[in-house]
Amino acid sequence: WDAEVELFRAMRPESERAWRDALEHMPDGVPMLWMAKWPGPWPVFVERAAGAHFRCVDGLDHVDLCLGDTGAMVGHAPAASVAAISAQLARGATHMLPTRDAALAAGLLAERFGLPSWQFTLSATDANRHVLRYARQATGRHKVLVIDRCYHGTVDEAYAELDASGRVVSRRGNIGAPVPLDETTVVVPFNDVPALDAALASREVAAVLIEPAMTNIGIVLPDAGWHDAVRAACDRTGTLLVIDETHTLCAGPGGMTARDGLRPDVVVVGKTIGGGIPAGAWGMRPELVERVRASLDWDGEGLEDIDVGGVGGTLAGNAVSMAGIRATLSEVLTPEVYPGMIARAQEWTAGVQAAIDEFHAPWQVTRLGARAEYSFRATPPRDGAEAAAADDFALQQYLHLHALNRGILMTPFHNMALMSPATSSQDVEQHTVAFREAVASLYA
Ligand code: PLP
Repeated sequence: WDAEVELFRAMRPESERAWRDALEHMPDGVPMLWMAKWPGPWPVFVERAAGAHFRCVDGLDHVDLCLGDTGAMVGHAPAASVAAISAQLARGATHMLPTRDAALAAGLLAERFGLPSWQFTLSATDANRHVLRYARQATGRHKVLVIDRCYHGTVDEAYAELDASGRVVSRRGNIGAPVPLDETTVVVPFNDVPALDAALASREVAAVLIEPAMTNIGIVLPDAGWHDAVRAACDRTGTLLVIDETHTLCAGPGGMTARDGLRPDVVVVGKTIGGGIPAGAWGMRPELVERVRASLDWDGEGLEDIDVGGVGGTLAGNAVSMAGIRATLSEVLTPEVYPGMIARAQEWTAGVQAAIDEFHAPWQVTRLGARAEYSFRATPPRDGAEAAAADDFALQQYLHLHALNRGILMTPFHNMALMSPATSSQDVEQHTVAFREAVASLYA
């Protein structure tokens, strides 16, 4: 570890200078605290990013396997997105009126996810927050059900987990959580059908909010039959099913919803859909919109009927985000680019597996479409508690710093690698070589 820290220091004097300046007016010298979570004594400051690479202010090139923790899954600065975003920026960004691109963006999402009615936000967090309000309003129920250690953004009632005694508590790190979560939130383990059935039986839950595969505690894949059981339990109990595809858009152009034929009432997406700029969206069945309308007792006659102050935001649906989504979905993240992204993820997985096998590291690697992740346990985890038990922060930091010093950026939160349409086999090979060296330094 010490040798890697020394190497980092020697390679990145300009980043250190930038960081010391930044410390003056920002806690930890970063605009958002998560950016301080990287391994190494200070953050790497970025000069420019393009495709699957970025250059830091120290002039070093990096293969970016983090890709903005999925925010840049389409690659950095894809030409078609940049052109559409720049053109719209020059024509005006924010006027609280719709542009034609909004309808085109909604149409593209509707086609991909099979849900006809869309609304836009600036992030997936906002979309999830708004969806939970819709669900409560539509059902007249106040609780939500989430999966232990799934993540849906900093949405208070969804940022929950089970503690050792099985109580619903706010996730560690959810600072300033406002209310005891057991009044708003029910939490069950992933892949646990009896727990889910029992939790919904009392019909107090407005919506089940779920990732179709867990992606925020390593990758945890659904058991065969899990999604059918979730749909059936929701149908039986009049509960809405919300599938958050923000990360699982790596599985295919319509996420796991389209790939696996899932049948959500609502889909949430965000992060990469805008081509790298703030954008989030949620899609619904029209009946849900009607139920909310009916619950509000709207007669559709007057402007007072547009009173939905709990849902929305001044910049939500802004013209630049709409142009970004329209261009990104129609010209960058097209169905045609997925086979290449998935092939790169298969190569990455094979490289990691080969090193694990060669040095008998007690680890495993799981892939979901264009995303893959290794974890420090010998078999794939089945739920969040199993996955969390394998966490080893010090080991992760060592591996990530080792990779960074060899020009490879991993995500700071877990051992995830994501492939963009621009990621090449050579980029993957660079990781394979570095990873083998790191595993050898631990287990040879
Ligand atoms: N949903 C899922 C599944 C996520 O993984 C995340 C972020 O990691 C979010 C929502 C929130 O996204 P954002 O932070 O862009 O609002």
